[in-house]
Amino acid sequence: MALMDLQERNERLFYKLLIDNVEELLPVVYTPTVGEACQKYGSIFRRPQGLYISLKEKGRILEVLRNWPEKSIQVIVVTDGERILGLGDLGCQGMGIPVGKLALYTALGGVRPSACLPITIDVGTTNEDLLKDEFYIGLKQRRATGQEYYELLDEFMTAVRQNYGQKVLVQFEDFANHNAFTLLEKYRANHLVFNDDIQGTAAVVLAGLIAALKSVGGTLADHKFLFFGAGEAGTGIAELVALEISRQGKVSVEEARQKIWLVDSKGLVVASRNEILQPFKKRYAHEHEPVKDLLDAVKAIRPTALIGSAGVGRSFTKEVIETMSSINERPIILALSNPTSQSECTAEEAYTWSQGRAIFGSGSPFDPVKYNDKLFVPAQANNAYIFPGFGLGVVISGAVRVTDDMVLAAAEGLADQVTPEHIDKGLIYPPFSIIRKISANISARVAAKAYDLGLASQLPRPKDLVKYAESCMYTPVYRSYR
Ligand code: NAP
Ligand code: MN
Repeated sequence: MALMDLQERNERLFYKLLIDNVEELLPVVYTPTVGEACQKYGSIFRRPQGLYISLKEKGRILEVLRNWPEKSIQVIVVTDGERILGLGDLGCQGMGIPVGKLALYTALGGVRPSACLPITIDVGTTNEDLLKDEFYIGLKQRRATGQEYYELLDEFMTAVRQNYGQKVLVQFEDFANHNAFTLLEKYRANHLVFNDDIQGTAAVVLAGLIAALKSVGGTLADHKFLFFGAGEAGTGIAELVALEISRQGKVSVEEARQKIWLVDSKGLVVASRNEILQPFKKRYAHEHEPVKDLLDAVKAIRPTALIGSAGVGRSFTKEVIETMSSINERPIILALSNPTSQSECTAEEAYTWSQGRAIFGSGSPFDPVKYNDKLFVPAQANNAYIFPGFGLGVVISGAVRVTDDMVLAAAEGLADQVTPEHIDKGLIYPPFSIIRKISANISARVAAKAYDLGLASQLPRPKDLVKYAESCMYTPVYRSYR
């Protein structure tokens, strides 16, 4: 609340504070505290920090957009509040998420604050507690779905294009799984859209894997990946890993997908399952007999990397990690589920049960662990490594589309920042303290890819893209009038 007030009262000071204390304040404007703020948003609400578009405005969305005082917008983060972090449907109280994400676009990526627009689309909520809550600030009706929902989103996307042109980046955030994939597929060909839960997560995790290989050895194609959880995060990562393998080894993506296996709530995803699999799972349904639980899947597939994003806490048991460690000298174990209570295992468990051999990363932060007198610093696969730099790259190049190759470029740009000294400590990501430098490098890689692909409209192409990116970044300093 104090930070929200400061942001209202003195924006420049707010960003100065955030940039200078990024490691301390990131968990406040972002997960986990922002989650609690969203849960209580109705009672701490004072002034709208972003733009609300509700079902009631159907047919007038363009008019509503025109009410926003800033005219030159570069990045929009939009949610419909249906899956806020791991907290479920928070309806239009989810506004804290677009507001927080955009604060990071500015603080970490240097996008001007006035060019950022947080939007919450209010189509109702299925959250009974909110529907009964007298302080709930949104529509008190059950969530609209199907045609009514998709028509509203269509109108929204068209209005954004009409009002701001085609070079405004629309980041979809915390939409439920069933809409997230559909919306991304639907709009990616004709609009400038990015889904952080799918693509941002994929890039940050791929970067961690590439960095991990610097100490484990081998190329991505030499490894075998088992995903526990086959939703937005899991299959998003799987697709990007497959794409990178195919680019590195000049093999087809189909062939690369053979190195990747998924486990969902029904067990190992295999071809013989007699149900209609969603398209994003079907690609990984290889020939294998059915396997029900994770431990048996690990024994059957013998992966070198195990990646958890099922949102089910404590699922990497002692047996699972011991089995991974008996198969591999340096098992790669990523416990990505958030918040901390949902993490597949703790850092201490990963290091202890693998006798200090695991390369470990997690979605939620863990403190360093001492095992056998050696200090292990767990890596946090935080999306905030990627999206601010990614967005800046899109903005400075004037890119008109987001392609998977640009997402790959962001992942490679992040992995490049991991030095041998970091690897020595077990770190697969660089420290957050240098995030603005990291973002500038990522943005240069993304912009370069956009230019190479002929998708950039900001011409001529700057010679030194890193320097150019740095020169474009907003810094909260006061102007000197002397
Ligand atoms: P999602 O789209 O709902 O996917 C969840 C997946 O987990 C589904 O495939 C589901 O199976 C599977 N699952 C659920 N219960 C299971 C069980 N008991 N055993 C095996 N699989 C199970 O959710 P999401 O967006 O991918 O997010 C999942 C988690 O990842 C969340 O905790 C989120 O916080 C975390 N996450 C972390 C990061 C990060 O670290 N940077 C980024 C994004 C997300 P079905 O398909 O059969 O339903
Ligand atoms: Mn998210």
